[in-house]
Amino acid sequence: MPDKQEAVLPLSERQRFEFNKLKKRLRRLVGEAIADYRMIEDGDKVMVCLSGGKDSHTLLDILLSLKLNAPVSFDIVAVNLDQKQPGFPEDVLPRYLTSIGVPFHIIEQDTYSVVKRVVPEGQTTCGLCSRLRRGALYRYASDNGITKIALGHHRDDILETFFLNLFHGGSLKAMPPKLLSDNRRHIVIRPLAYCKERDVSEYARLRDFPIIPCTLCGSQPNLQRQVMKEMLQEWSKRFPGRLDAIFGALKNVAPSHLADTSVFDFANLESLRDTAGFDEDSGQGLDILAM
Ligand code: SF4
Repeated sequence: MPDKQEAVLPLSERQRFEFNKLKKRLRRLVGEAIADYRMIEDGDKVMVCLSGGKDSHTLLDILLSLKLNAPVSFDIVAVNLDQKQPGFPEDVLPRYLTSIGVPFHIIEQDTYSVVKRVVPEGQTTCGLCSRLRRGALYRYASDNGITKIALGHHRDDILETFFLNLFHGGSLKAMPPKLLSDNRRHIVIRPLAYCKERDVSEYARLRDFPIIPCTLCGSQPNLQRQVMKEMLQEWSKRFPGRLDAIFGALKNVAPSHLADTSVFDFANLESLRDTAGFDEDSGQGLDILAM
């Protein structure tokens, strides 16, 4: 397949330079995430879930670009779920995907009516909607020999989820770059896990992807997630590097310094005690001093 990775917006020489830098950065970060988590292997059939938003467009574009020089051979199929929301522009994605020559499939499933019928007026519809959507995508994956399901979540989505769970869920968990589905039949991957939302948005803008708005369902966006997003954006402005540090922490977990007995065997610490290697004068070995 020819490389059609070209910016569509007219760009000055300077902007073209910046665009190329941005694309290189995204390619590098996606490549690193794929390698770190062994997301894609030889012979994989990767289904890229394309909602029509900036994130999934960017994911598809960067994966297609990486595929051209990848050390392994894998297939990509773009899959969109037409949820039958009023006003969904059903011709936009098929036209775009045909133009870039990528195999694709549109699943048509009226989850919109189900959600409207089942969820009482005024309550958030996203929970049920997401479950129905996941079911439709998993079904397609099972029926079509898909080995990896790629989603467009980026670093900021992962951080927002982390703080949502921390502040409201009472658990220390985020959104993993690679996940085994609950029924253990599917591997979900998030190749944009290391990419900042700001970069993804800018890339999507410069590439001029045909974006489909995500407000067609008429649902309120998740307000708590929005609060997390604003908090993180504020931190990012006031404390440059803080979000990188937090994301780095997600990759550097010390279960022995948390308090979950199911991931660290505090009860049997005594069995690990080694009095011989303890230097009381220097304090070396005194873990209690560690921050
Ligand atoms: S915003 Fe609308 S389409 Fe998106 S998950 Fe919520 S209900 Fe579904």
